[in-house]
Amino acid sequence: MELKLDHLSKTYANGVKALDDVSITISNGMFGLLGPNGAGKSTLMRTIATLQEADTGEAYLDQLNIFESPIELRKILGYLPQSFGVYPKMNAYDLLHYLGELKGISNKKERDTIVASALELTNLYDVRFKEVAGYSGGMKQRFGIAQLLLNKPKLIIVDEPTAGLDPAERQRFLNVLREIGTDNIVIFSTHIVDDVKELCTDMAIMNGGKLLLHKTPKQAVKALDGCIWGKTIQREELENYESEYRVISSGFKDDHSLFVRVFSSDSLAHTFEPKQPNLEDAYFVALKEHQTEESITDEVA
Ligand code: ADP
Repeated sequence: MELKLDHLSKTYANGVKALDDVSITISNGMFGLLGPNGAGKSTLMRTIATLQEADTGEAYLDQLNIFESPIELRKILGYLPQSFGVYPKMNAYDLLHYLGELKGISNKKERDTIVASALELTNLYDVRFKEVAGYSGGMKQRFGIAQLLLNKPKLIIVDEPTAGLDPAERQRFLNVLREIGTDNIVIFSTHIVDDVKELCTDMAIMNGGKLLLHKTPKQAVKALDGCIWGKTIQREELENYESEYRVISSGFKDDHSLFVRVFSSDSLAHTFEPKQPNLEDAYFVALKEHQTEESITDEVA
């Protein structure tokens, strides 16, 4: 399958441009939409899920015109919003059967098979008779996946699912996504670079409503080969380095020193040591380039 977004733009009533001419084609597999808070990720996902309208642009899932046929789209869509809301006092097994009925799976035997397989895939089978309201955050997120699997979706959209999960729950959740990502398009948004590194076959970086980069994680890292330089400096030197070099990240080493990573396609071997690029570098380089472009545009305007 292929999801094709064509020149999507959206400005909210308060003047915020949350989508700025977004065009991209996404194929089967796990697609990570990476960006800081306020980047426009949720707006993009809700637009694809036909829960809100873009001002301009089109979207197709293979031949299906999504905005013209929202009902057709929803039949094959699984969507997990950022917060799934309040859970009734029901166990997972009963709740999935109830939701399955709502989704039109009226045959009890067929529903049984689907519910059991959703519970197994999300590792909730053993706790299926416990109330969902009492589940941990990670279990609730996995339940969210179980419910969206009921109608065997072809396009799965999951909005910031790992936010707030502890490391063990996050791993369990990513494993579940990994299982379901092979035969479908799974789009999931996150501001955690490691989520994308561990999971995604394809990704885009977004900020200010714009797609800044669309590459596989491997390609994004490879594009920075020979361009990342590192050095330990004193804390008070940071400002100087920032004015002279394109510092992309800095981390404390101890009370007085910092390790800075710098982007430069020209050799900085006289001052810095060469570093292996990583996905975090790719993320920060894309964000910093965008910031610089914005400030140049602001100056011109
Ligand atoms: P993300 O999911 O990446 O955090 P969002 O799509 O939620 O980003 O938001 C993008 C921008 O649009 C932000 O500046 C946000 O404050 C703004 N925004 C989101 N929803 C609305 C809304 N309903 N009305 C006005 N502004 C909104």
